[in-house]
Amino acid sequence: DRLVDSGSEPDEKTVEAALRPGTLDDFVGQPRVRRQLGLVLEASKLRGRTADHVLLSGPPGLGKTTLAMIIAEEMGAPLRISSGPAIQHTGDLAAILSSLTEGEVLFLDEIHRMSRPAEEMLYMAMEDFRVDIVVGKGAGATSIPLDLPPFTLVGATTRAGLLPGPLRDRFGFTGHLEFYSVDELVSVLRRSAGLLDLDLSTEGFQEVASRSRGTPRIANRLLRRVRDWALVHGVSRIDARASSSALEMYEVDSRGLDRLDRGVLEALVKHFGGGPVGLSTLAIAVGEETETVEEVAEPYLVREGLLARTPRGRIAMPAAWEHLGLAVPEHAAF
Ligand code: ATP
Repeated sequence: DRLVDSGSEPDEKTVEAALRPGTLDDFVGQPRVRRQLGLVLEASKLRGRTADHVLLSGPPGLGKTTLAMIIAEEMGAPLRISSGPAIQHTGDLAAILSSLTEGEVLFLDEIHRMSRPAEEMLYMAMEDFRVDIVVGKGAGATSIPLDLPPFTLVGATTRAGLLPGPLRDRFGFTGHLEFYSVDELVSVLRRSAGLLDLDLSTEGFQEVASRSRGTPRIANRLLRRVRDWALVHGVSRIDARASSSALEMYEVDSRGLDRLDRGVLEALVKHFGGGPVGLSTLAIAVGEETETVEEVAEPYLVREGLLARTPRGRIAMPAAWEHLGLAVPEHAAF
């Protein structure tokens, strides 16, 4: 339930759906992916063929599901959504594949979490539009070949490197989604504010964008919290001060760090002189599990150049002192 978590909350699906752009032109940012994908789709339409299989990689909340929906929309094809963790038996996959209609777009989120046998079935389906269904068990088992209609697979994964080579190779196009710049997030927010009927100044948008960790999902979520704050405080025009007061109240600071992130940074700088300090010692100092510190707080701190993981332990970088409003010591470990 962190406000700055890039994963999606179960009760967030409906509002997210309402804020999703429906066409490639409305999709903000990712110019390279947009251009290349646009070309793939255009060429398939001109040839009158189903689009090549597409792999989208990148951290959560950057728009993979949205792009899959746009691909279906642009191809005028229906969309089927499933995910790797839901496909543990070949039968699960066979059931989905055998019910696809011609040209349908199949979106498989977290495709790297599919079971190995299902993955192998998918190879053949992607390449030859065919699967072998095994009927029966043991010596009496027979395999029945089944032809499939041509379809487009859109796979999503947090890291393309997590996929086995043979699966990766069967995608005709791979798009890697990058974190968004503040300006791009301002554009995402402008669009969302229009849909939510909110009035923000440019600086008001920038305040929200710069706290959003380069992630549209977080930007939209923070915007909704700012909306609540403005409603309760009777503020109709949301400027930079209103945005920052709202987000300070939710303990999301000017760089998008929340209480946990700041706690880790403060412990490192104030208790351990900037390190190096072992992960478990650091975790005890902030009263958290080591996994929470390592998997939830550290990735963003490292990405922001505030903390480094070294063989001797965690160290604070000069930007950490600066961010906490402290003088950078001369004899720190960096
Ligand atoms: P996950 O892997 O966690 O499912 P995702 O990468 O599939 O995340 P989406 O669900 O597509 O992310 O996007 C999350 C939210 O951010 C949606 O509400 C979507 O509308 C918005 N969003 C993402 N990318 C963009 C974009 N480029 N322009 C406008 N809105 C965007």
